[in-house]
Amino acid sequence: MFSTDFRAKNQVTDVRLATRTTMKVGGPAQLVSFDDRGSLGELLDVPHRWLGKGANLLVDDAGVGEAVVVLGPAFDTCELSPARGGVALVKAGAALDLAELIAACIAAGLAGPEGLSGVPASVGGALRMNAGTSTCWMLDWVSRVEVVLPGERAPRWLERAEMPASYRDSGLPHGTLFLGCELSLAEGDPAALRAQGAKLKKAKAASQPLAQPSAGCVFKNPTPELPAGKLIDELGLKGLRVGGAMVSPVHANFIVNPERTATCSDVSALVRTIRDRAWRERGIELRLEVETWNCPAELHAHPRDLAKVEV
Ligand SMILES: Cc1cc2nc3c(=O)[nH]c(=O)nc-3n(C[C@H](O)[C@H](O)[C@H](O)COP(=O)(O)OP(=O)(O)OC[C@H]3O[C@@H](n4cnc5c(N)ncnc54)[C@H](O)[C@@H]3O)c2cc1C
Repeated sequence: MFSTDFRAKNQVTDVRLATRTTMKVGGPAQLVSFDDRGSLGELLDVPHRWLGKGANLLVDDAGVGEAVVVLGPAFDTCELSPARGGVALVKAGAALDLAELIAACIAAGLAGPEGLSGVPASVGGALRMNAGTSTCWMLDWVSRVEVVLPGERAPRWLERAEMPASYRDSGLPHGTLFLGCELSLAEGDPAALRAQGAKLKKAKAASQPLAQPSAGCVFKNPTPELPAGKLIDELGLKGLRVGGAMVSPVHANFIVNPERTATCSDVSALVRTIRDRAWRERGIELRLEVETWNCPAELHAHPRDLAKVEV
């Protein structure tokens, strides 16, 4: 699928996507570790999907036919400029681990990203998902992003104001490639920022099944007042199992894969059951927060259109 020249400048391997997702589910694919900007044209000519740390993905057991592209070391960058007038610019490549960005900002006494502590992500995945916690969203701190928009051939910078971002959505079209971003951050006290980050991580560890493979929260919260986890708990579904997949007894909006034996069909059956029960018993349409690759389309259909399911 790729030329010899492309392969000399970018790594191409065959993988099982279960090894690249935090849920530990997903079949075979061709993985491209993309490093050479000069090869962008050839990459865009091939059917592709963008992958970060795989922390928000459910992938079919049959895998995917498109090339799965992760950004390589050339995009694993972080540059901090000295603060001027109490504000500093930080330039981050999309392959950078979000945790590393947060640690660098805390060490430099730059406030904001510590509010995302504990969210497993690459910078690119966090931009795409507008990852967030109870205190802030990724795009709160971003002044501009470097992207390749669908249908375009070259990277360009977009100002934050050009992105109609919302809850778990960057606001840019599906298929946009994020190459990096600039953050504009105010100065803060490193000790206080570190303490705030540690507090958020501790709260996550106390309320989420972090030791078991998962893709984080499966469903978006229907409203800020009704978190999906509370709703699923009220439906009595904690602990429900299909094959190797289970609704976490710790946090009902997590589907976990404790023995790493779950298939995509196991997880899909739980998703279907939860959505069906939420609709039939509470009249609420739960929408997926997790992105699905090559999974049954019915996972996204309105639950009133599904046949009644029993597990
Ligand atoms: C234990 C756990 C806890 C979590 N807690 C939170 C939380 O508190 N808040 C929260 O928001 N999320 C949370 N998540 C979900 C996940 O961390 C976020 O959605 C995160 O932003 C995913 O980043 P990623 O790099 O893993 O992206 P991936 O899962 O690899 O990809 C997610 C989407 O982004 C796209 N993408 C990835 N990289 C790029 C790129 N460079 N350019 C364009 N598109 C790209 C992919 O195509 C896909 O559509 C949690 C997940 C886990 C497993």
